[in-house]
Amino acid sequence: MAEIQVKNVRKTFGKVKAVWDIDLTVHDREFVVLLGPSGCGKTTLLRCIAGLEQVDQGRIYIGQRDVTDLPPKQRQIAMVFQNYAVFPHLTVFENVAFGLRMQHKPKDEIKKRVQDAAELLHIEELLDRYPAQLSGGQRQRVAVARAIAVDALVLLMDEPLSNLDALLRLEMRAELKRLLQEIEATTLYVTHDQVEALSLGDRIAVMRSGQILQYDTPLNVYDKPADLFIGGFIGNPPMNFLDGEVRTEDGQVVVHTGGGDIYPPPDVGAMLSRLKEPSVLVGIRAENIETLPAPAEGALQAEVLVVEPLGSHNLITMQLGTEQVKVNTSADFKAQPGQTLWLRLNIDKICWIEKATGRAMYPD
Ligand code: ATP
Repeated sequence: MAEIQVKNVRKTFGKVKAVWDIDLTVHDREFVVLLGPSGCGKTTLLRCIAGLEQVDQGRIYIGQRDVTDLPPKQRQIAMVFQNYAVFPHLTVFENVAFGLRMQHKPKDEIKKRVQDAAELLHIEELLDRYPAQLSGGQRQRVAVARAIAVDALVLLMDEPLSNLDALLRLEMRAELKRLLQEIEATTLYVTHDQVEALSLGDRIAVMRSGQILQYDTPLNVYDKPADLFIGGFIGNPPMNFLDGEVRTEDGQVVVHTGGGDIYPPPDVGAMLSRLKEPSVLVGIRAENIETLPAPAEGALQAEVLVVEPLGSHNLITMQLGTEQVKVNTSADFKAQPGQTLWLRLNIDKICWIEKATGRAMYPD
């Protein structure tokens, strides 16, 4: 069992609380992504697990073994860094063999393991070359091959794709996913790229200011963000947020917004009516707003500000009363700035956020 357990771990640098009392479990063969903005503590947490940083408090377990006080080389981890860290003076073969030589493995075993890793990464043809003779993507493959060739219990990756250009990054992302599914390694992967996190992770731990705010599946992090920050950080465009006042009129809960009134379903209404402060933010994603050319029941009148054709769909910025919202339409939807359209919010997809705390609320 190659489970990673982080218990109550804290790491400070002077006054900076880089990692603040974090608990995290990565199950055997799970692929977990640490996601968050720059400086939130992702790399520090990964380095604590790798043993490259000493923790101030807490314990770290890898495969049930308490490794907190062990040096990196005794933790049975393999790491892939952003800058690849391949050795320029060694051939691809020797680069991949590097960790195995450090472990004093027999020659035959090294050869076999290098061959196997090279095959998985499709770099068999490159084993005699030097890194200077490789493309960025090939160099990255060598770094990954070197990591998986050793006897590691867990794989730790720190932004391994961020030095690649956009197209290659996309290609390598799919390739990494295939590879990691194949080798079934327990993996902890750091990125600040939300698309990468959504596409790769079995689960995502969203971090901010040294803490984990939400630890859940990509779908839940996207559809049911735990708070305002996550709703705004994940998704392109970010979630729209409308200011709302909760009122009860004739026994029915209604949310007044600068763009019009919204009538939540009864379970949501009951939840909203229990709020101490009746102020909410109505979170709704661009793809959960239907755009209609004519008035319709429950649709709110809005004016087109900007139309951005994106090939697969259009992104339209609309003025909805006092609020601006972004909506997605099909690529052939015709709209002009200044035009009036009607917007219907998918009521089941609204993320209701308590304004006082920024926390999202979901009915039971
Ligand atoms: P990025 O995506 O930019 O790499 P990150 O989320 O990985 O960011 P960390 O590198 O873990 O963030 O840094 C967390 C905080 O700790 C930051 O405020 C950073 O400046 C600080 N920090 C990290 N390493 C050190 C160090 N060796 N000395 C002092 N402060 C540090």
